[in-house]
Amino acid sequence: MSVTGLPPYDPQNIFARILRGEIPCKRIHEDEFALAFHDINPLTPIHALVIPKGAYVSAADFHEKASDAEIAGFWRAVGHVAKSLGLDAEGYRLLSNMGGNGGQEVPHFHVHLFGGRRLGRMVPPA
Ligand code: AMP
Repeated sequence: MSVTGLPPYDPQNIFARILRGEIPCKRIHEDEFALAFHDINPLTPIHALVIPKGAYVSAADFHEKASDAEIAGFWRAVGHVAKSLGLDAEGYRLLSNMGGNGGQEVPHFHVHLFGGRRLGRMVPPA
């Protein structure tokens, strides 16, 4: 188990394969620290995913182990992606599922970026 209660990082997870170019994605942005692409099953008119380049299982794993430069670079990329998608004026939601209770399906830390419509106060239950 990792520090987060999740299994150790699996280099065959789907986002690791996207990072290696083994699986295509609809890329929005890429830099030294992060890759952003459109979610394959969008829940809102705009639904992007931002992932760090490094091998981190979850939000907890990333914030515990990543360097300051990786953390700053990642979050700067999140802001850049939101702006580049034209979401700053109307607003948007950031969300990261963490572990079992959080409903995390892909064990590579990622932030969902939802926008393009009124989202209500919280995400409704699945
Ligand atoms: P989570 O439940 O937070 O782990 O969310 C994983 C997200 O990854 C879901 O919203 C999926 O629709 C999305 N997803 C899974 N496979 C792909 C893929 N190949 N390309 C883009 N998004 C994906």
